[in-house]
Amino acid sequence: MPARPTPDAGQLLAWFKRHRRALPWRGPWGRKRDPYHVWLSEIMLQQTQAATVAPRYEAFLARWPTVGALAAAEEREVLDAWAGLGYYRRARNLHRAARVVAETCNSRFPDTVRALETLPGVGAYTAAAIAALAFGVRTVAVDGNVARVLARVFAMADPAGPASRRLQAMGADLAPESLSGEFAEALIELGALVCRPREPRCDSCPWQGACKAFRTGRTADFPVSVPRKRPAVRYSVAFRLTNRCGEVLLRRQSDPGPFQGMLVLPATPWGASRPSPAAVRAAAPPATAWRRVAGRVEHGLTHLTLRTEIRAGATTRDPAPGEIWHPGRDDGRRLPAYTRKLLAHGAAPEPAEATR
Ligand code: SF4
Repeated sequence: MPARPTPDAGQLLAWFKRHRRALPWRGPWGRKRDPYHVWLSEIMLQQTQAATVAPRYEAFLARWPTVGALAAAEEREVLDAWAGLGYYRRARNLHRAARVVAETCNSRFPDTVRALETLPGVGAYTAAAIAALAFGVRTVAVDGNVARVLARVFAMADPAGPASRRLQAMGADLAPESLSGEFAEALIELGALVCRPREPRCDSCPWQGACKAFRTGRTADFPVSVPRKRPAVRYSVAFRLTNRCGEVLLRRQSDPGPFQGMLVLPATPWGASRPSPAAVRAAAPPATAWRRVAGRVEHGLTHLTLRTEIRAGATTRDPAPGEIWHPGRDDGRRLPAYTRKLLAHGAAPEPAEATR
């Protein structure tokens, strides 16, 4: 019986060399990258599209060109520079990790997967990406794209997501001794451009001959999906407080949570049910009167769905420490998407309802 064809690293590398996209975090072919650049781009690319990340990555690097410069920044500056990219814990961890690298490693990144994983916010995927792309370690970084490619190539019968150590080991086994960074990136690119979630472009795939799912006509059956939990729903009431100039009061979120350190509207704490009238009254800043804004804002995070009602009111008072007056219009960068949604919804004309 003829031996089953195995995925060939050389074929994938040849394809990648021809088709790889020019992205600002990619350097010349075959050259090891600056670990700070790899780390920053990989953290930004988590949950965020490459087209969105590209200009933000360049602006971030222009402002903090080294890990030492980032470590010397205030957390608030880093969070403001991150605004609009979402998942703000990434920015807080980025800043914390920069301080660890600057203060304990003399601004030199560790060069092993295990040591990299000890940095705040650096998981198995990011550690493997830095190790492969910056230090030439023979490993692969398994994100959703890579998990899909490997699950199809090997026709894996079990559900296996990006966290799967088995996929990690299977991918690393395929990696070549040299150009391991390019190989790791080629796998990601193959999943993004060719082995797409629906309608994979198998006719353009360098691994078509070795792909078990393709050879058996079962590409739609893989990857076997991991059962997903529905995100929990959390409720809140936010207060849109305006001054005589029409500016809106925002405050920096001090409580732990997805928006810690970011500019948000004052609000009740998140709860598993709608806040009671007493809880709304207790959380409301002083205002002449509050009226309820019709409808509600729904905002999805990875594991949560946030449902927020809005109350609108006016005041003549000055902002307290940690608060600012904001024009209410956003330039698309300085505020979290959630705050922008609340501002847009609260500003929309609507019939007044009774205040509760
Ligand atoms: Fe994916 Fe098709 Fe290539 Fe298999 S042949 S790895 S299913 S694109």
